[in-house]
Amino acid sequence: MQTPKIVILGAGYGGLITSRQLEKTLKNGEAEVTLINKHDYHYISTQLHKTGAGTAPDEKITLHIPDLLKTGKVQFKRGTVQNVNFTAKKVQLESGEVIDYDYLMIGLGFDVSTFGIPGVEENAFKIKSFRSTKAIHNHMLRQFAAFKEDQDPSRLTFAVAGAGFTGIEMIGELIEAMPKLCRKYDIPVSETRIINIEAYETVLPGFDQKAIDFTAGYLRKNGVELMTSTKILECSPTSITLDNGEELPSRTLIWSGGVRGNTLLEELALPISKGRIVIDKFLRVKGMDNVFCIGDAALFLKNDGTPLPPTAQVAIQQAEVCGPNLVATLRGQQLKAFEYHHKGTVASIGNKAAVGKVFGLKISGLFAALMKQVIEARYLFVLGGPGLVIKQLFRAGKPQS
Ligand code: FAD
Ligand code: NAD
Repeated sequence: MQTPKIVILGAGYGGLITSRQLEKTLKNGEAEVTLINKHDYHYISTQLHKTGAGTAPDEKITLHIPDLLKTGKVQFKRGTVQNVNFTAKKVQLESGEVIDYDYLMIGLGFDVSTFGIPGVEENAFKIKSFRSTKAIHNHMLRQFAAFKEDQDPSRLTFAVAGAGFTGIEMIGELIEAMPKLCRKYDIPVSETRIINIEAYETVLPGFDQKAIDFTAGYLRKNGVELMTSTKILECSPTSITLDNGEELPSRTLIWSGGVRGNTLLEELALPISKGRIVIDKFLRVKGMDNVFCIGDAALFLKNDGTPLPPTAQVAIQQAEVCGPNLVATLRGQQLKAFEYHHKGTVASIGNKAAVGKVFGLKISGLFAALMKQVIEARYLFVLGGPGLVIKQLFRAGKPQS
């Protein structure tokens, strides 16, 4: 009998932790496992806002994938997935290569929702991947340099769309980055503007009032212009059109207006809802026994019929069940139903403040910021044990700005 082939698409939180689970659970030679990802590095997407603002060195955000695979049971393949033929059980890569599988796990993650708002797709910057956030920082540097030449205030007007978790975390990093950038280019901070534009009437829609008040107060204290109850209608390379009639001169709109599943999923002829693949309680694509999907690419409905949110916390917990379920499938054993345990949510506002709720306890300020760092360290621990935590903690390399 041929050795069964397991193929994992995407080395984000879901794909990597599933790989680590397989390394732990599979016996030597029990299956051939291939992990496929666009790049040979994993980016820590929960910290991409730092790359955008240039407040963290690249080495802290990206990890070399082959270094994270410890046992030789999972082979890494760099490649961009183009399509999957579920009948023939073949993955098609953009390079033309075709990879056969017996069991598949789709962990292709998220894309940014731009809702068809004119000009956003072409002109706004996305917090989506390491490359897309690196582009934000490089663009900001160009704006500072150009301002020295033409003194055009639109160059130093940095707007962030959305005051959800991503938007607030991005704004927090901009607050930290701005004084350093100003020093570097010898420009007074007073020449710069950070604007947060949110359609809803408060920042952090849906969060509790205390957290909303803390966050709004912290942003205002740090000079951020908050435009709540304001919707972005259009974006050009040099301006942002708002629904209050204002035309805001700005060359930088950082779009954090929401996420959806990877747009590639729509090509896959699978049951899709809200851009995400509908999965069953065992994390399998509805109607398929050999195809699993987890993380932001997947739509998992809770007992009350509402979907789990697209978060790393969900992706990691799903991966911890998905790995063993893949092994159980190939061994013909009983699968485990996935149950989500919400541990809490913390949004950073730069390095020195954060806001959130952990194990039911509302937290804010410096303590919350420390808690956020503990959460990030825990992820590294799950991925690579204490060695990786220590390595990343003391990683050399300066922030970019
Ligand atoms: P992803 O992390 O998106 O990984 C998908 C992988 O697939 C990537 O490596 C990508 O390169 C690869 N890929 C994509 N397309 C292809 C292709 N065609 N071929 C090959 N490879 C491909 N969640 C939390 O729980 N806590 C937080 O604090 C938090 N902070 C966040 C901060 C920011 C700025 C953002 C943007 C998100 C944050 N999230 C947070 C959400 C969290 O990042 C996502 O839920 C999580 O990344 C989902 O993991 P995933 O494995 O499903 O997908
Ligand atoms: P989101 O959907 O939570 O927030 C998007 C915000 O953009 C909304 O408040 C919306 O009103 C606003 N918006 C949309 N269109 C707009 C427009 N035209 N003009 C002005 N405002 C507009 O999206 P997100 O913040 O990217 O979060 C996505 C997911 O990632 C969530 O599940 C979130 O929990 C998770 N996440 C978690 C953390 C964390 O735990 N620290 C950090 C970032 C993201």
